[in-house]
Amino acid sequence: MNNITDKLNRPIKDLRISVMDTCNYRCPYCMPAEKFDDNYQFLKPNQRLSFDEICRIVTVFAGFGVNKIRLTGGEPLLRKNLDELISRIKQIDGINDIALTTNGQLLKKQLPKLVDAGLDRVNISLDTINADLYHKMSGNKGDLDVVLDAIDSARKTKLKSVKINCVVQNGVNDQDILPLLAKYKDTNVVVRFIEFMDVGTINGWQQDTVVQFKDILNNISSKWPLHALDANYKGEVASRYKYNDHIGEVGFITSISKPFCRDCSRARISADGHLYTCLFAHESFNLKTHLKNDNNDFLQQYIKDVWENREDRYSEVRHELKTDSPKKIEMYVIGG
Ligand code: SAM
Ligand code: SF4
Ligand code: SF4
Repeated sequence: MNNITDKLNRPIKDLRISVMDTCNYRCPYCMPAEKFDDNYQFLKPNQRLSFDEICRIVTVFAGFGVNKIRLTGGEPLLRKNLDELISRIKQIDGINDIALTTNGQLLKKQLPKLVDAGLDRVNISLDTINADLYHKMSGNKGDLDVVLDAIDSARKTKLKSVKINCVVQNGVNDQDILPLLAKYKDTNVVVRFIEFMDVGTINGWQQDTVVQFKDILNNISSKWPLHALDANYKGEVASRYKYNDHIGEVGFITSISKPFCRDCSRARISADGHLYTCLFAHESFNLKTHLKNDNNDFLQQYIKDVWENREDRYSEVRHELKTDSPKKIEMYVIGG
């Protein structure tokens, strides 16, 4: 293995792969229905990375020290035979953890095959447990009961962790934080609150829609006191808390109020094979060109050069940036 570091001395540990650019939801903060209508041109199947190409890319990243893979989208469960991809990635030397981020609508049926294939962890996005609001927040596509049932099924498998991701928006779902926790506070399902981020350009992000970590923490602590836990490992994105009087755990992803760029060791790949070195990137690096050569050496050298030249730290400097900065990549392309 040949570990590499970027210009800020950050290694590369974690690779997020979008396996699908389309989605069965139309969450207004990600793929608003007005823009992603029936005429929207998604990638054609042959423009998406094939499983062979994904595995070649993962092999090269594993050689640089990546040991964790997260499959995301769009909605990754729309990609056919995802279990086959998981089992192939699992066999790659150095990869010891495969996670999936999904909206959960299609999860329950696919779960046994995914777990058998070697999936280790699943994160399910759930911004509210109010059924009407859930439906609305999914762009009138999602059924809350189906997702809650999938979460229950996931808990009964041998998955190492089942986490819920809840993006909190002021005046939209902030009143649902406590009801969501009430449901999971006595379980091993970790609920993680994510500050609404200014990813991309189409979600109409405004600073005042963000509910900051400390406000969410105070809100929860006034009902159920919490204490902080140590990070599981260096570079863990979420700050972890445990209830004093319940078995559950709560996490916070504080990209806005407490950036964590200093330890950011993750890269992202879009479904069409572009590498992004930051969630807020405005440039990408086309890996497909380097996949044309059967020899992995070119791909390896290219990725090494990209990572060694990386100096992203958007969240730390966002307040200094001008409003006319170049257009950022959209969330549905790189999957969070
Ligand atoms: N479709 C899958 C899902 O929803 O879990 C995977 C892709 S989705 C883009 C990944 C995560 O990004 C979801 O948890 C979603 O809530 C989150 N997300 C989307 N836009 C966001 C934003 N502007 N700020 C914070 N999180 C966002
Ligand atoms: Fe789809 Fe996930 Fe984006 Fe919602 S957040 S539109 S489920 S990709
Ligand atoms: Fe990493 Fe970019 Fe997020 Fe900073 S802003 S933590 S560099 S993805």
